[in-house]
Amino acid sequence: MSFKQVRGQEQAIRVIQKDLMRKSMAGTYLFTGPSGVGKKFAAINFAKAINCKKKDIDSCDHCSSCQKIDKLNHPDVQVTKAKGDSIKIEQTREIKRGMEYKVYEGKKKVWILEGAEKLTIEAANSLLKFLEEPPSNVVIVLITHSPEKLPLTIVSRCKIVRFSPLSYQQVEEFLKEKNACSSELISLVSRLAKGKIGEAFHLINDEDILREREGVLNKLAKGAVDKEVFEIAKRWSRLEKDKLNRFLDMILFWFRDVLISKLGTKEFIINEDREKELKKIKNRYSFLQIYRCIETVEQTQRYLKANVSPLLALEGMWLKLVY
Ligand SMILES: [Zn+2]
Repeated sequence: MSFKQVRGQEQAIRVIQKDLMRKSMAGTYLFTGPSGVGKKFAAINFAKAINCKKKDIDSCDHCSSCQKIDKLNHPDVQVTKAKGDSIKIEQTREIKRGMEYKVYEGKKKVWILEGAEKLTIEAANSLLKFLEEPPSNVVIVLITHSPEKLPLTIVSRCKIVRFSPLSYQQVEEFLKEKNACSSELISLVSRLAKGKIGEAFHLINDEDILREREGVLNKLAKGAVDKEVFEIAKRWSRLEKDKLNRFLDMILFWFRDVLISKLGTKEFIINEDREKELKKIKNRYSFLQIYRCIETVEQTQRYLKANVSPLLALEGMWLKLVY
């Protein structure tokens, strides 16, 4: 796997390869952008390119260094991620100690910190000390989808590399090449994935989400969700946050599509498989009602982020959507 396989991130890769070409790496990089768009994949390839025995600005994929990094057992490359909800000071301390040793067999030590927004304050402070005077043979890559949660003192010491969502066509093309699933499913998940390849794979591998989508959209299309709202709210309230958010996205996409159908710009429809039903249902809603439904779902997502009781938030949402 080389940089070519990092999809849709040409601009970010250009920034990285420029530094590799000049052989002047920054001490610390911050890879930011939505989750599931290839930041970690790019970071691993960066570590490979830095240490590759055959190539300079990319990885050859075949030398012992590239292969060890792919298997995450290269002594000079470390990947740290949260244990539980946070990256604790014990974790950063341990890695820092390792980074202070000489390079064993590569050219530089590379430390990739995944989910950097989860650093505890103590861990962030300890990391900051390290960033103030990093050893010249160390490159640190912080990965985050929420750079605003990192202390400014850390961000200001990083070279920022931005990753963006892909177009749905890019996601679709990638899934087709990988033969990820049936062509019908590829067409659907690439539209539902919000430009994130990682998200597309989540949807493919989690049958629950698409099954639930079928059930709920069938009911919404018929305007037949009524007494069941409490039952759906109860079922959803037990889900883990990420999954619940995906379910809410499905509802959001539905009302967004009702709006688009009303506007007559069908090329932007996400639920392409539901075009006929959207056409039928669009006149049951006024523009104002659709905006209110969208706002209701978005507000629910904000409530859940702020740790409001999921059951209460979901019951409130469904009641507003249905009645
Ligand atoms: Zn190599």
